[in-house]
Amino acid sequence: MRRPIIAGNWKMNMTASEAAAFLEQLKPLVKDANCDVAVCVPAIDIPACAEVLKESNIGLGAQNVHFAEKGAFTGEISVGMLKEFGVKYVIIGHSERRQYFGETDESVNKRLHAALNGGLIPIVCVGESLEERETGKTEEVLFRQLKEGLKGVEDVTKLIIAYEPIWAIGTGKTATAEQANETIGFIRKSLGELFCPHCAQEVRIQYGGSMNAGNCKELLSQPEIDGGLIGGASLKTPDFATIVNS
Ligand code: PEP
Repeated sequence: MRRPIIAGNWKMNMTASEAAAFLEQLKPLVKDANCDVAVCVPAIDIPACAEVLKESNIGLGAQNVHFAEKGAFTGEISVGMLKEFGVKYVIIGHSERRQYFGETDESVNKRLHAALNGGLIPIVCVGESLEERETGKTEEVLFRQLKEGLKGVEDVTKLIIAYEPIWAIGTGKTATAEQANETIGFIRKSLGELFCPHCAQEVRIQYGGSMNAGNCKELLSQPEIDGGLIGGASLKTPDFATIVNS
């Protein structure tokens, strides 16, 4: 049985003090969750969040990590820096990083290996643009992102995939539950071909893209969908708690 995971992606929102206050409110609301819960926070909020989340059931996550152990990489953060504060998860290859910061399948792959080698749980994002979906290229794009992004991974069960159609992120347009389920089924089949069918059955694959308190039940009840990566709705405690407890 795959244990679902609901993870918030706060993006560039909340100062450290706002983050700490938010998490103090969230903790009691999700303490009895039947799934894994995580918040992926801005890097500078990590120390404050780590303090608040001590001994809670909410795992701490980052939104990116560099592939090098250390060195001349201005503005970047290493696995060791994250681990020192008890960070457990890291988002890799979010479409905003691909779109605005030149992230490629190749750099995703390097960051992924660094995260896995350092014992972090990567949440690797894949997803097609609206144009790619409309021109029938969704499967081709996803297969390439998985093949190149996950190249050389020895144990694919150690990572989480987030299927995030770019056209559904922050737009209020959600993939229908059937669309999301079918596409995640395709991702699982591809992982079976690229790795092994048995391992593919164990990989947790989330859906992300305008999931909210109103549509989460239907999406999360789909057999292929193992949780969600939540942007906007993770910034409101009642909404995020509703998704976690749904
Ligand atoms: C995301 O950025 O990962 C995301 C899913 O955002 P939203 O929920 O706001 O669409």
